[in-house]
Amino acid sequence: MSVSATITNISRGSLHDGPGVRTVVYFKGCGLSCKWCHNPETLSPQKQILYIKSKCIHCGKCVELCPECHQIQGSDMLFLRENCTACGKCSDACPSLALSLCGEEKTVTELFEEIKKDQHYYTSSGGGVTFSGGECLLHSQFVKEIAKMCKDKNIHTTVESAFFVPWKNVEEVLPFTDLFFADLKIPDPEKHRKFTGQDNKLIIENITKLSNIHSNIILRIPVIPGVNDSDDDIDAFAQIIKTFGKGIKEIELLKYNNLAESKYDIAGKEYTEFAEKTQTNEEMQKRCSAFKEKCSKNCYFA
Ligand code: SF4
Ligand code: SF4
Repeated sequence: MSVSATITNISRGSLHDGPGVRTVVYFKGCGLSCKWCHNPETLSPQKQILYIKSKCIHCGKCVELCPECHQIQGSDMLFLRENCTACGKCSDACPSLALSLCGEEKTVTELFEEIKKDQHYYTSSGGGVTFSGGECLLHSQFVKEIAKMCKDKNIHTTVESAFFVPWKNVEEVLPFTDLFFADLKIPDPEKHRKFTGQDNKLIIENITKLSNIHSNIILRIPVIPGVNDSDDDIDAFAQIIKTFGKGIKEIELLKYNNLAESKYDIAGKEYTEFAEKTQTNEEMQKRCSAFKEKCSKNCYFA
């Protein structure tokens, strides 16, 4: 029987998630809950209804179908998410696409058919497939099988992970993964717990082991204003990075932005803003120079 996993989105033509032009597969579910997460709809492992209020034309179809979850209140359609079982009946009936079901069960074979559609640009650009999320390594058996199928067809594979998973999940995908993006978020364990829901012990253990046996890893650090962007934070990051093995090739710093704010409303989650503006290129360049000097690694920002 083919393994299956819940996928939230397949994004085609990405230029930022590994070499060349890429197809990015977003898996549903994550063991962390970072307050700045750009994909809040991927955090829960369960399927869920997304609701874009501004698209609602107040036709009342969802209320007729499911009065336990939908109620018209004045000029608003109120969505009582806590009662929803994500059956998808209301989203199927919604004429304006204000309601949509997030999360689709796919088998390995079905996903591979989707991936193969983009073979032309993998070949012409040196691109491939990136498995992301959510936490794709919570679906390690699935990722192993699909990555193996990709490698059989000479398609480049990248795994992007926060590494808050048992080591055996990492081991499973290792032989079929060309590149890892390893997210490193906050050096201090307690601060890590405060902003992501978990401390960083398991993550650091996993990246340490991986960096001693895999030769192509890019560390990704989201730079969050007031959380992990001080000089002391850079020193603390450097102390950790210096203990990693030779497999760490580069460090990629990610600029902060508020682009995901509307996604929180759509998913019914509370948004935390850490700064009104994104960092300037000069600020990021300065930070890159500090990382380069303290870690003896190439560092760039995106
Ligand atoms: S998905 Fe099903 S249970 Fe949830 S609101 Fe729609 S109709 Fe009701
Ligand atoms: S079915 Fe869609 S458009 Fe109609 S009231 Fe419900 S959310 Fe609004």
